[in-house]
Amino acid sequence: MHRFFVDPQDIINQQVHFSQSESRHIERVMRLRSGDTVVVFDGSGWEYQVELLEKASSALVGQIISREYQDRESPFKLALVQGIAKGEKMDTIIQKAVEAGIDSIYPLLTERTVVQLAGQKSQQKQERWQTISRQACKQCRRNRVPFVSPPLEFASFLEQHQGQPILMLYESEQECTLRQVLKKDLLARQIQPWYLMVGPEGGFSEAEAAMARQKGAILVSLGPRILRTETAGLLAAGIILYEFGDLG
Ligand code: SAH
Repeated sequence: MHRFFVDPQDIINQQVHFSQSESRHIERVMRLRSGDTVVVFDGSGWEYQVELLEKASSALVGQIISREYQDRESPFKLALVQGIAKGEKMDTIIQKAVEAGIDSIYPLLTERTVVQLAGQKSQQKQERWQTISRQACKQCRRNRVPFVSPPLEFASFLEQHQGQPILMLYESEQECTLRQVLKKDLLARQIQPWYLMVGPEGGFSEAEAAMARQKGAILVSLGPRILRTETAGLLAAGIILYEFGDLG
């Protein structure tokens, strides 16, 4: 069954009013018409069976036949704090993180972030990434859309999340491994989300690692091989959500 997103405020009196772009998708791409049934979600956890109505304007309307609360969220909340990667790589990271079951995403401006994101550009990027998160939900059947934060400076993120569980993937860490953190309960599991921090392509600087440690983050290694940023976060999220969440 095809799934479409509708803003909660566009669900009125048991009818859903599709946006122009969803209407286009339904009609032109999926070739659906009045009388066909689709699944609609509004990002709040509700999922609706909807019958498409006869077209009265350029935007489509559907009648709700039934609804069910079905959020498909992981019982363990893990947020991804991702050093902003270049170009489309960041889009892919967000898409995969949503599929894996990440709860929310914090794009991070670090010392070695190449992308420049001043003012309006930062907002545009956030909107684009939020759309990617929503689109990933259409595909993977999540009914809650993970929040994508506006880009944050590394130091501001640490300030704002002091005292909360932060796990920093650090390529130069020699002592502590992710396995130790999970097996020895080095981070309190009751306090969620855990924030999983991943460096951009150029990695974290020594100064950033020191600052994170000083603010209470746990620095971990993922083993002897250096992984690309898009690999590291997804693998670590997979391991954590397999152990504590609903993956597998
Ligand atoms: N350019 C750096 C590598 C950066 S990899 C270098 O050559 O050393 C990008 C990010 O992925 C890192 O900042 C870290 O967060 C994560 N990462 C990659 N491999 C890792 C590993 N073996 N252990 C922990 N984190 C790793």
